[in-house]
Amino acid sequence: MAYIQFLGAAGTVTGSKHLISIGPDPRGSGGFQALIDCGMFQGPKEWRERNWQDMPVPARKINAVVLTHAHIDHCGWIPRLVKAGFRGPIYATPATIDFCGILLPDSGHLQEEDAAFYNKFKKSKHDPALPLYTLEEAQASLQYFRAVQFGENKQLCPVISFRFVRAAHILGSSMVELTLRSNGQTRLLLFTGDIGRVRDQNVAPGKVVRSGPTEGETADILVMESTYGNRQHPTVDPRPQLAELIRRTAERGGSVIVPAFAVERTQKFLFMLKELMESGQLPAIPVFCDSPMAIKAVEVFMKHTGEYSEETRRLLGRYGSPIEWPGFTFASTAEQSKKINDVRFPSIIVSSSGMVTGGRILHHLAQRLPDPKNTVIFIGFQAPGTRGFTIKSGAHEVKIFGDIVPIRAQVTALEQFSDHADTPELLQWLRTFSSKPPATYLVHGDPAASAQLRDTMTKELGWNVQVAQWMQKVNVI
Ligand SMILES: [Zn+2]
Repeated sequence: MAYIQFLGAAGTVTGSKHLISIGPDPRGSGGFQALIDCGMFQGPKEWRERNWQDMPVPARKINAVVLTHAHIDHCGWIPRLVKAGFRGPIYATPATIDFCGILLPDSGHLQEEDAAFYNKFKKSKHDPALPLYTLEEAQASLQYFRAVQFGENKQLCPVISFRFVRAAHILGSSMVELTLRSNGQTRLLLFTGDIGRVRDQNVAPGKVVRSGPTEGETADILVMESTYGNRQHPTVDPRPQLAELIRRTAERGGSVIVPAFAVERTQKFLFMLKELMESGQLPAIPVFCDSPMAIKAVEVFMKHTGEYSEETRRLLGRYGSPIEWPGFTFASTAEQSKKINDVRFPSIIVSSSGMVTGGRILHHLAQRLPDPKNTVIFIGFQAPGTRGFTIKSGAHEVKIFGDIVPIRAQVTALEQFSDHADTPELLQWLRTFSSKPPATYLVHGDPAASAQLRDTMTKELGWNVQVAQWMQKVNVI
């Protein structure tokens, strides 16, 4: 008897966490429990509160975690799992492990900061406010990571084995092909994690990793993401529009503020700025990259070049490490960060967090949102309930550090930077399957996106598709 239970990213885009549970064998072998991803819930409070709930299976009874990639909504709950008693291996690709080494301690640090802030101003109904986990606890969780290469077969227990295949979402990102053998039966399970852009460079400009997720897949049960299940990305090159936005802002004496995820998105954006400046499409305006994490991520980024597209490799070959570029300043200390506030001439400030949920971007936006000369450019997905979502959706004010900040700056978004396949791309990938999966469960999507993708897949492909429900159990054997 084995089942999958959707413990997160069901009905929402965050908190990815899928339990595979095998009951004890009557002939004596014990059961086995594994998690595919162990993500943190982000966004609206009703979801965030679930970060504090215990799982249906105690953490110490989970035997292993298999991690698809290093985004916090897929890995951010790992330190909490370890804090609650988990002591098993956490399997991930080498680049994912390197990124987690940066992201998880930072996540712990941000939570400690948030708790300290609420306690100082007594703005929490929880007294005292506590972090979900600390920086130190996050660091302690890193000892359980074990590297698994793409394509390598790994036996989790006598009944389950898995291998990672490329998802082409971010550096190191993978899908998990899982094989379950029990009582003479075999079941193939495919967990997609997040699925990268499927089309090639000219329709997905700025794509860092090689083009497209692994083709020719099949599964008895497919568990698939649906973030862009009801949307299509623009296919125009964002570079001319970006150059125009920056030029106009600088002409009126304003600065451009770009909230960007520190890992990969920031580096991708910096390379695009560099290219625009070198080709003369953009004047050499000072660029401030204000994220200690982004600096560390540059090193990881330069280490795993084997996964990159031709275009990315060409850029790396031509320009080298962003840390060395003249006119680009990387602020690692708090002092250096504060100094950016004093800059009165036009500049470009790239800072995180990408959804404005914390980090140094808060200071920059609190200071520069009230001035109509400035421009805020979003280059990443904004989950409902985040400050980023509020600002992007045209609100007139936003709460930062407990204060109401008026929004008078120009606010715009460039959607082409997405690392998720849109609906036509998802269908293009699904059409490469060697056979129709008997059952598909859609996860990692807002309810409207998941429902529309279910309908589209049913109509266009004739597949049996359901939208996964939070805590739903699905029998595997
Ligand atoms: Zn992701």
